[in-house]
Amino acid sequence: MRALQYRAIGAAPELVEIETPEPGPGEVRLKVTAAGLCHSDWFLMGLPAEQYVYGLPLTLGHEAAGIVDKLGPGASGVAVGDAVAVYGPWGCGHCHACRQGRENYCVNAAALGIAPPGLGAPGAMAEYLIVDDVRHLVPLGGLDPVECVSLTDAGLTPYHAISSSLSKLWPGSTAVVIGVGGLGHVAVQILRAITSATIIAVDVDDDKLALATEVGAHRTVRSDPDAASRIRELTGGVGAEAVFDFVGAAGTVQLAREVVAIDGAVQIVGIGGATLPTGFFSTPFGASVRAPYWGSRSELEEVLDLARSGSVRVHVERFSLDEAPEAYRRLHEGDIRGRAVVVP
Ligand code: NAD
Ligand code: ZN
Repeated sequence: MRALQYRAIGAAPELVEIETPEPGPGEVRLKVTAAGLCHSDWFLMGLPAEQYVYGLPLTLGHEAAGIVDKLGPGASGVAVGDAVAVYGPWGCGHCHACRQGRENYCVNAAALGIAPPGLGAPGAMAEYLIVDDVRHLVPLGGLDPVECVSLTDAGLTPYHAISSSLSKLWPGSTAVVIGVGGLGHVAVQILRAITSATIIAVDVDDDKLALATEVGAHRTVRSDPDAASRIRELTGGVGAEAVFDFVGAAGTVQLAREVVAIDGAVQIVGIGGATLPTGFFSTPFGASVRAPYWGSRSELEEVLDLARSGSVRVHVERFSLDEAPEAYRRLHEGDIRGRAVVVP
C-alpha cells in the first residue's frame, strides 16, 4: 500500500510503498477514507534527533476515518463495511482514567509504549490503518468522513478544553480564541453551540480572522502589541472569563495572561513551547492555567453529535495522497484555511 512517512530527522515527509498491514489479535484494519493534517505533525518533524521519540519511519496522520476492512482474531463489535472515526489518544484501557473513557490521560500509556496512530503507531496517511481495539472506533452514523475526520482532533481537543471551562462561560461572559486555524475555527463554533459567551477571535492573519467571523466569532482582534488593550476595551475592562490559546507561543501566553479576567481560566492548547508562570503576583486573583491534552471517548461522540445537528462544520481543503507533501508544506506556511484533509 502507499503511505506518507516521516523517514529521517529534518527531512520532508515522503510517499512510499510499504506492505499492507495485517490485523493482529483484537485489532481492526480500516480502509482509510480520510486523514487530517495537524500542526502537531510539524511539531514532531521539527524536533532534533535527541528529542524525537516517535520512531522512524513514521506513517503520519492522527486524525482518521475509514471503513472496517478486516477483523483480527477475536475482534468483535464492528462488521466489515462499517464507516467509523478513530479515537486517537489510545490508553491501556484498564486504569481509572481509561475506564472513564478519558484515555487521553491514561497513566500507563507511556510506560507500556502505547502511542496514538501517527504519533508513534503507524498513522492514517496510508491506504490502510490498524486500530488496536474496537473501543477506539466510533460509528460515523451518516457523517461524511472527509468533512468530519478532523473532529477527532481539531474538534475533540477544543471541545475538551471548552467543556472543562463551562462553569466560567455564563451568558454575558467573554471567551477569547487565540489562533483560528484547524483547531481554533472549530473552537469558535463549539463555543457558539454550547455557550452564550461573546467570542473574540485573535490571529495574525486577516484571512483567518475573516474565517473566524464566518464561523461565528462576534469580534476579531489582530494579534499585535495592541491586542491586550483592545480586548480589555471590548470587555469593559474586565477581561475574558476564558482564554483558549491554540498557539502556545511566548507572545500568545503573555496575551492570555494580560486578558484573562479575575477568577478566569486560561487553557494553553497550542504546543508552541511557551510557559505561563502562575502565582499570586503573576496571574489575576483566582485565575487558573491549564494545558489540556486531546479529549475523552465520550467527548468525541458529543462532538460528532454537534456535527450531526449542524452546529459544527469543519472547513476542509482536500488533497490526494500524492498531494499530501504539498499539503504539509502549505500547512507549514500558514496557507490552509480550516483543515487540510488527505483522501487516499
Ligand atoms: P494551524 O496551523 O491550523 O493554526 C494555527 C493558527 O494560529 C493559524 O491560524 C495561525 O495564523 C495562528 N497564529 C500563529 N501565530 C499566532 C500568533 N502569534 N497570534 C495569534 N495567532 C497566531 O494549527 P492547528 O493544527 O490548529 O494546531 C494548533 C496548535 O494546537 C498547534 O500548536 C498544535 O500542535 C496544537 N495541538 C495541541 C493539541 C493538544 O492536545 N493540546 C492537539 C492538537 C493540536
Ligand atoms: Zn489507562
